[in-house]
Amino acid sequence: MMKRKTGFFFDEHCFWHSTGAYVVTLPVGGWVQPSSGTAHAESPETKRRLKNLMDVSGLSHSLHLSSASPIDEPTLRKIHPEEYLKRFKQVSDNGGGMLGIEAPLGPGSYEIAKLSAGLACAAVEAVLSGELDNAYSLSRPPGHHCLPDKPMGFCFLANIPLAIEQAKERFDLKRVAVIDWDVHHGNGTQHIYWDRSDVLTISMHQDGCFPPGYSGEDDIGEGEGTGYNLNIPLLAGAGHHSYIYAMTQIVLPALERFKPELIIVACGYDANAVDPLARMQLHSESFREMTRLVQQAADSLCDGKLVVVHEGGYAESYVPFCGLAVLEQMSGIRTEVKDPMLDSIRLQQPREEFELFQQQQLDKLKEKFGL
Ligand SMILES: [Zn+2]
Repeated sequence: MMKRKTGFFFDEHCFWHSTGAYVVTLPVGGWVQPSSGTAHAESPETKRRLKNLMDVSGLSHSLHLSSASPIDEPTLRKIHPEEYLKRFKQVSDNGGGMLGIEAPLGPGSYEIAKLSAGLACAAVEAVLSGELDNAYSLSRPPGHHCLPDKPMGFCFLANIPLAIEQAKERFDLKRVAVIDWDVHHGNGTQHIYWDRSDVLTISMHQDGCFPPGYSGEDDIGEGEGTGYNLNIPLLAGAGHHSYIYAMTQIVLPALERFKPELIIVACGYDANAVDPLARMQLHSESFREMTRLVQQAADSLCDGKLVVVHEGGYAESYVPFCGLAVLEQMSGIRTEVKDPMLDSIRLQQPREEFELFQQQQLDKLKEKFGL
């Protein structure tokens, strides 16, 4: 494994974004007991514990750790309308509330979301400037469900598109690919780049999980953007082999065809086998292998330029092991940490005939996309 100069962008403030008076994904009241501590699915602990595991394993010491400035207002306005930003700030200043579909926030979330987007911007900038080989942004709140004027699914600002738009202004960047392997559909990124051919968006996700009401693989973009939006819906229960098959048969050939100058991964960990908000069967080695594959593509297509931005992942105890595997692969440094759940999740993989059925569906998609 080649050692690389890997950046890790994080800020304690991102762990202070709260979901206010909501537990799991339900409003408190009636039959729903008030929260004790961090009972909302989108708890800071999944992310904080990843950073903690990096610290105790020693990995943090070998990475370039940094915070960043909050994203600036002019960049924000490139994607989000003034009216929405005003409303978001107002709810945040007033102590929080529910801003959109599954988008609860607490006091100060507006500033924290600006910082979260700022981390992604800084990660992209450091890689494009050549300061770092690759970089990870521990953004929270996440961004991939957010529409320009409509927050949803715990997302308030479109972190990755904001980072792309800022980078396009500062660097002569013509083609960026976004691989979204969060288990939920990357609808925000799809929407923002729907009619553009400069950003290839690929989303691998559990079919019909979240958000409701989309048409899956038939959503291929429009106008200039036709063919530059690929959706790869997977059956609930899909495991390691199906994901790797989708990567090698569809994602990598799509990258080769597009020839990006930068690859960004919208890295959710919620396709892991114990996630409370999805039904997939991945383990830490799946995330390691998917990272290895995109890294290989980045090496051959764009000088290794890879940025990984944290999205979802709600299994407090398990996300850290999946995240550590991604960071080990990115940096080329293997720690002594062993994934304590790896063996049991490997025993839960779908049997061969089910994998074959899923692979046949993926073969059809590959053909549909002309890959
Ligand atoms: Zn998700």
